[in-house]
Amino acid sequence: MSKFQTVRGMRDFLPSDAERLRHVEAAAKEVARLYGFVEIITPIVEHYELLAAKSGEEIKARMYAFNDLGGRKVALRPEFTASIARLMAATLRNEPKPLRLFSTGTLYRYDEPQFGRYREFWQSNFEIVGSSRPEADVEVLALTNHFMRELRLRNYWFKIGHVGILRGVLFDEGVKDEEQNVVMQLLDTKRWDEALRTARGFGVSEKGVMALKEIFKAKGKDASKVLKQVKKNLKEYASSVAAVENLQQIIELCIESGIKFDMIIEAGFARGLEYYTGMIFEPLVPEIEISLGGGGRYDKLVEMFGGESTPAVGVAHGLDRIALAMDKQNVTPKFSKQFVAVIPIGEKAVSKAMELALQLRKKGAAAELEVMGRSVSRALQDADRRRATHAVILGPKELKEGKAMLRDMKSHQQHLVGIEDVVEVISKKTD
Ligand code: AMP
Repeated sequence: MSKFQTVRGMRDFLPSDAERLRHVEAAAKEVARLYGFVEIITPIVEHYELLAAKSGEEIKARMYAFNDLGGRKVALRPEFTASIARLMAATLRNEPKPLRLFSTGTLYRYDEPQFGRYREFWQSNFEIVGSSRPEADVEVLALTNHFMRELRLRNYWFKIGHVGILRGVLFDEGVKDEEQNVVMQLLDTKRWDEALRTARGFGVSEKGVMALKEIFKAKGKDASKVLKQVKKNLKEYASSVAAVENLQQIIELCIESGIKFDMIIEAGFARGLEYYTGMIFEPLVPEIEISLGGGGRYDKLVEMFGGESTPAVGVAHGLDRIALAMDKQNVTPKFSKQFVAVIPIGEKAVSKAMELALQLRKKGAAAELEVMGRSVSRALQDADRRRATHAVILGPKELKEGKAMLRDMKSHQQHLVGIEDVVEVISKKTD
C-alpha cells in the first residue's frame, strides 16, 4: 500500500465534492437557525471511557482509540451525543432548559468501507435537551423533514419506531437493562431468531416470546392502524402500551400540525446506539439502501454521565449520504449568488478590473479575476467550464469610453454597460 494514497476509508474532497458537502452543511445550518438551535463545537478527541460508556457494542468495537503521549486512553469521536451529554452533566448543567444545540463536523468509525460508508464521515447533529414532551420529538422530525425539502430530495420517507415497545415486553418480563441491550443489539442487526433465543435465555416466558414475534410483524404505512393493532396485541404489557401511546401522540401531533412526510411504522425497529429510550427514526430514500440519518429520544443518557435526570431528543444527519442521495436523484444544489469572471485585456485594464472585482465581492457576488493573462476567448472558455454566470470584459477601447462588456454566460448575449453600472446591473440579477 503506497503511503502516498489516502488511508483506507478516508477521502479527499476535491473542489466539486467539497462544494457539494458544504452546500448540504449550509442547508443544515440554515435549518438550525430557523428552528432556534445554537451551534456548539466540541473536540474530535475525547476520553475513550466517555465515548465507550454508552455507544453500544457495534460502535465501541470500531472506535479509533489510542494512547496519547501523556498515556491517556483517548479516541476519535464516533458520534456527537456523548460529548453533548458530557457538557450537560457538568458545564451546562444549570443552563435554563430547553437547550437546542447544533453541531456539524467529522466522525470516525472503523466501518468496512463501501458505498455510503466511510471511516471519516460528516454529520449535522441536533439535540433538544430538557423536554420530555412529544412536541420536542415532533420538532426533531419536523426539522429533518425541512432539511430534506430544503435540499429538494424527493420520495423520502421516515422509518419510525419506539424502543419502549420491545423494551417494555422485556422489562415487564423482568429482563435487566444490560440484558435488554444484548437483545436490542441482535434486533438492530436483524438477527431475529438469535434475539428470541437470547430473550428466552434471559427468562422471557413463551407468552413474552409470542408478544415479541407480534411486534416484529407489525409494520406499515398507516400509523394509526399499525399502532392500534400493536396496542391490542400487547395489552398485558403495560410498559409497551405506554410506549405505543407515546408514539401515537407524536404521530398525531405531526399530522394535526400539517407536517407532511411519508412514514413506515415498524414496531420492532431497534437502532445501534444503546441509549435510546423512546421514539426512534431514520430518513430513507429509494435510491440508497442505507439510512440518511438517525435520531430519537434518550432520556437517561445525561444521568448516566453523572448529571441530573435530563430528558433529550435528537437527530444526526449523515451529510455524505445526503450528498450521495442528491447525486442519485440528480438534484443540483441551488447557488443563488452570481459568479462573475472579470477579464482585463492588456496591462492597462488590470487595475480597473481588480477594482471592479472588489466592488462585486462587496455586493455579495463572487468575482474571479483573470490572473493568467490569457486571451479573451481562452478566459471565456475557462469561465464557462467553471460555471460562471457572467463575464465582464475590460478592453482598451471600452475603457476609454468608461464602459465594459457584460456577457451572460448562459445566453451568450453581451452588451456594453457603463463601468460604474456593472455592479448594480449584476447585483440586480442576484436572486
Ligand atoms: P448513527 O450515529 O449510527 O445513528 O448514524 C446516523 C447517520 O450517520 C447514519 O444514518 C448515516 O447517514 C451516518 N453514518 C453513520 N456511519 C457512517 C459511515 N460509516 N459513513 C458514512 N455515514 C455514516
